[in-house]
Amino acid sequence: MTALPPLREVVARHGLSASKALGQNFLFDGQLLARIAAVPGDLTDAEVLEVGPGPGGLTRALLAAGARVTAIERDRRCIPALAELSDAYPGRLRVIEGDALEIDAPSLFDGRPHIASNLPYNVGTALLVGWLTGGWPPWWESLTLMFQREVAERIVAPVGSDAFGRLAVLAQWRAHARIAMPVHRSAFTPPPKVMSAVVHITPADQPGGVDPLVLERLTAAAFGQRRKMLRQSLKGMAGAIEAAKRAGIDPTRRAETVSVAEWVEIARVLS
Ligand code: SAM
Repeated sequence: MTALPPLREVVARHGLSASKALGQNFLFDGQLLARIAAVPGDLTDAEVLEVGPGPGGLTRALLAAGARVTAIERDRRCIPALAELSDAYPGRLRVIEGDALEIDAPSLFDGRPHIASNLPYNVGTALLVGWLTGGWPPWWESLTLMFQREVAERIVAPVGSDAFGRLAVLAQWRAHARIAMPVHRSAFTPPPKVMSAVVHITPADQPGGVDPLVLERLTAAAFGQRRKMLRQSLKGMAGAIEAAKRAGIDPTRRAETVSVAEWVEIARVLS
């Protein structure tokens, strides 16, 4: 591999001033980027989908870790910078210009890729929900995703905490989710207003006898009115209150006190 110019130089040379509209906050610290790229584990010859590579900081770290990277970037200005990176790692980096919310990513791979990404938070959350709600086992091997810290905490939240809600149930009922590392706001250029964290998610077995759509509808209804008792919040979903009772869950409880395993049990009775 030829020596790569510093990322800041690449950004300056290609005029990649950070666009607020595209949620651009870049990472330039090579050591931090290497630590993020190490979160999925050994990537030697592994396929990785990177969403939103921007000027390619994380992309470099993934390539240096031995991965074969497919990168989807929406900002056309970044494509020439990424093409240089592709030249430095012949046959290891495929760059696709487009919106990750619209591209059919699974069709880009024969095997199961790891996914790694530092995305604007709204796009990241929408993609995460999509990746967590598909068929199981999923088409991906693991997710390593940067979020603002408050969103990361909602993903890994334990039952009974204020952050516990739909996102926690979605992320935890058939996957392991953990915060791999906090990332200080000052690590980004420009620095965002809030702190961030990298979340690591790996698939687990899907509990038997549960229709995922039932679980999603159930938790959407219950956490849509999280301060209300289940007997109120679940009124609109036929059979749900009865199912909770049959699963041994007192309908005077509120959604945030019901554990992931208990939600799964209610959904199983209802499925
Ligand atoms: N990964 C780079 C880094 O860590 O320095 C850039 C991170 S920046 C927070 C987010 C990147 O995602 C930007 O390059 C932005 O253009 C890109 N992006 C935003 N929305 C996107 C979308 N819907 N599809 C693909 N890329 C997107």
